[in-house]
Parts: sequence; structure tokens; C-alpha cells
Amino acid sequence: MTAAAPRAEDRAPIRLAGATRGEIIQSLREIGTPERELKMRGSQLWHWIYHRGAREFPAMRNIARPALERLAERCTLARPEVVTEQISADGTRKWLLRMAPAHRFDKGAEIECVYIPESDRGTLCVSSQVGCTLNCSFCHTGTMPLVRNLTAAEIVAQVLVARDRLGDFPGGVAPAGGLVPKGEGVRAVSNVVFMGMGEPLYNFEAVRDAIAILTDGDGLSLSKRRITVSTSGVAPEMARLGAECGTMLAVSLHATNNALRDKLVPLNRKYPLETLLDACRNYPRASNARRITFEYVMLKGVNDSLAEARALVRLLKGLPAKINLIPFNPWPGSAFECSDWETIERFSEIVFNAGYASPVRTPRGRDILAACGQLKSESEKLRARARMMLEESLAVGQD
Ligand code: SAH
Ligand code: SF4
Repeated sequence: MTAAAPRAEDRAPIRLAGATRGEIIQSLREIGTPERELKMRGSQLWHWIYHRGAREFPAMRNIARPALERLAERCTLARPEVVTEQISADGTRKWLLRMAPAHRFDKGAEIECVYIPESDRGTLCVSSQVGCTLNCSFCHTGTMPLVRNLTAAEIVAQVLVARDRLGDFPGGVAPAGGLVPKGEGVRAVSNVVFMGMGEPLYNFEAVRDAIAILTDGDGLSLSKRRITVSTSGVAPEMARLGAECGTMLAVSLHATNNALRDKLVPLNRKYPLETLLDACRNYPRASNARRITFEYVMLKGVNDSLAEARALVRLLKGLPAKINLIPFNPWPGSAFECSDWETIERFSEIVFNAGYASPVRTPRGRDILAACGQLKSESEKLRARARMMLEESLAVGQD
């Protein structure tokens, strides 16, 4: 006996918010759009979803009613659910988002994304994975054991949610409070950094497809120079990132010798400093106008001596580099402390005197645990498993 095909109303809706051009065309085909209309309808939908930020089909005024009815019957423009929104005293916003369940028993993966407003720009820090497999010893996300890759749509949806909430689509209204940058031609979300949860280069295809959607001129239209992908050092994927995405690159360096970097960023055992810096030297289009950012987290008594500042300058000699010193952001149970302010200043002076721009990244949103490396889902189950993982990783760190 053959099972009956599921009725239309029993099937999960086709999710279009975050879809690639190819996925949109495929969905249109599935709902019975005539072949000769596919291209035109695809472009119309693309424009409504990504340029106008449409959240419902009836708003799409230039699409014929029968086509809209077919779309509304089988498709949805729903975004991930905003579980919580926290607003820091400094205007930083953190959203906990629940992704649509993949099947009936899936509760939906939770991830965090953070918005950081400044006077001349607004930066959205997006996640690329749920958790991270890499266990850097100073990073909260690294203690999260549950990992899955986000899809391109789930990455793009973070930008859609942020733009919805910030009134950043045409006709939108910015939230009260005056902390979102505004003015003629100013966008609330002008920059995107892949510095949230996860290692973007361990989810390369989805990150690449998401970047293609974010930078499409008829859609969200973000400049590639305003998108930065941060990696803990997946050297073999860096050339691909440069060639296929053309975004800016940030590298989480954090140490100037392999012995220490092995402990702080365990991936260093696989791709040691020599390999990593070679990949940086070969990063396509790196130049003085498109410098690679080297991130260096300031850990008290661990990597913050003045000798290490000088070693850092020697290590990066000849590379078009910016150095970004990040004060360590503590989290419950972390084994490190942030360097003293005086030490950070002296460290930064050595780097600056060697000719590098060396901004110290002002910690933002610390009061809502939204700063670098503090992101993670707060569910009880994750917390309990995280403690276990932390103990294990510290045991490794001691040998
Ligand atoms: N996985 C990627 C991107 C996400 S982390 C990477 O590691 O590059 C973004 C940046 O925050 C990285 O430079 C990371 O090393 C840094 N970071 C992680 N935990 C931190 C903490 N507790 N305090 C300050 N910076 C942290
Ligand atoms: Fe993962 Fe980056 Fe955190 Fe390391 S610093 S554990 S790579 S998110």
C-alpha cells in the first residue's frame, strides 16, 4: 500500500526569508508557477524580501493576486522567533533568537546576535554556528557543547530581524532612545561582523551564500568592505574566503608563540603560527587599503607583557595589518582576568609606535553579557554541560 501524499496544510511552510535566489526560484516552481514567469516572479520576490523587508505577501503590490494567494498558501516570510531582547545602558542590543524547528520534535536551536551602535555606523555581530567546536580556553561560546551549523538563511535572517527591530527597512521607524545612528543615507545596520557564536570557516558554504545575499545590489546591498569574517585560524579556508567572498578578514591571534597559542586557541596545534601567517600573506586583495585585522585578547599575566607586544610587532612585519586589542570579557566561571588598564595602554603604545593602528576595542554591552566571547544560550542543560566541558579544557590547559 502506498502512503497518501501529505495534504498541503500538513506540510511545513516553505521559508523564504533568508533564501538564496536559486531557492526562491525552486520554491516558486514547487507551488506551480509557470516556467515562463519564474524569473520575473523570482526578481519581484527578491526585491520585496530583501530591499523592502516585506513581512507579508499582500504588501507585494506588483504581484498578481492569484500568484500571491499561491505564495501565501504554501510559503512564509516569518523570521526566527525573538525569545528575548536586552538593551544595554550603552545602546548595545542582544537578541536571543530561536530558529524554526527542523522537525516535529526539534525545539529549535537558539543563537545570539548583537547590535552595536556608534555615531557613524551600526555593526551587527552575527553567529555562524550554534555553539562552537573549538574550545578556545577564554571563550564562553567554546564551552557550549551542542553544535550545528546555521544555514545561509539562518545567518541572513539575523540581519533581517535586526533591520526589522531597528526600523531599518524603507518606511520603518527607529526605536525611541536616540541610540541608533540616523541621518541622510545612514543605515542602522551598516556593518556586519562574523564574530558571534561559532567558527565561520567551519561553515564555509553557508557563510559564503549568506554573504552573497547580504551584498546583492538589489537587496540588502551591504558593501563587502563593511563585512568582516573573523577566524580563529582555519588556514586552508582563508584563500577561498578571499576568492569567493572578497570580504575583510580578521584573525584571532592572541599569542605570539606556538606554545602559548596551543593553549589559548587549540586549533593552533593543527595550523600553527607559521601556516596561519602564510595564509594571511596570501589573502587575496590584502593591501594597505584593505588591512587584515589581528585580534589580540588581553589576558592578565598570560599574554600581556611588553616583550610580547614587541614580539607581536616582529611577527606581523611586512603584513598589511591592523591590531585590535580586546580587553578580556569575563564570564561566570572563566579562568582568566582582564589585563590592567595601564598594561593595555603600554602594550598598545608599543604597537602604535611600530606604525600600527592599534585601537583598544571598547567593551560594549558588558552589562547584558553581549561583549566578545560572552555569547551563549542560557538554558539550564547547556550550562550544566558547559561546566563539565570547562573543567575538561582547564585540565588540558594545565599539562
Ligand atoms: N570563532 C571566530 C569568531 C567569533 S569570536 C574567532 O574565534 O575568531 C570573535 C572574537 O572574540 C575572537 O577574536 C575571539 O577570540 C574573541 N573572544 C572570545 N572570547 C572572548 C572574551 N571572553 N573576551 C574577549 N574576546 C573574546
Ligand atoms: Fe569558537 Fe571563536 Fe570562541 Fe574559539 S573564540 S571557541 S573559535 S567562537
